Amino acid sequence: MNIVLFGPPGAGKGTQAKRLTTVLGIPQISTGDLMRAERASGSELGKEFDHYMSQGLLVPDELSLRLLEQRLAKPDASKGAIFDGFPRTVPQAEALDRLLQANGRKIDVVVSMEVPLDEMIERIVHRRSCESCGQIYHLRYNPPPSPDACGACGGKLVQRKDDTEEVVRKRNDEYLAKTAPILGYYTQQGIVKAISGIGSLDEIEARIKAAIGK
Ligand SMILES: [Zn+2]
Repeated sequence: MNIVLFGPPGAGKGTQAKRLTTVLGIPQISTGDLMRAERASGSELGKEFDHYMSQGLLVPDELSLRLLEQRLAKPDASKGAIFDGFPRTVPQAEALDRLLQANGRKIDVVVSMEVPLDEMIERIVHRRSCESCGQIYHLRYNPPPSPDACGACGGKLVQRKDDTEEVVRKRNDEYLAKTAPILGYYTQQGIVKAISGIGSLDEIEARIKAAIGK
């Protein structure tokens, strides 16, 4: 089974993708992670990534697809994969379809995790992280024992510079403009299942499993 997990940045796609790997016995494929690993390996392909990434340029789709092809050929992906963070554009979605088709496969289901903007802002603006150990808290949902000290190590809790309403709104606008059209592409194929991305991790996992029929 090949699944695409979809949702705005901060919706919790990565967390749910990890949980699904255990349930389904298929790997999570994140092109971001793959690119970083390939770049670190110093391979020929990795050097090509480095050329673009070190200059802050967008990596051409053709390179990302070579990486995906290589990853999908590994034995653990023979029964399918969970795509997280790819495709990000309609041309990428089309290219992924062609790549899968060439191997007798297809995207079976696209799970769209829907989180309203107000909820995204609420989640991110009240996030605090420990300067010393990196532990993450949420002032409402996962509060630290004291508002400015880490419960694990006593370190100072800080708000990350990007965790502001303005940044969340900007990221959401970018998501809507560039990424949301992909949902239209997959909707035409009749494979989109929308679920609410609000609730506990267990609740959301249960919704995803119901959406994919597991
Ligand atoms: Zn700490």
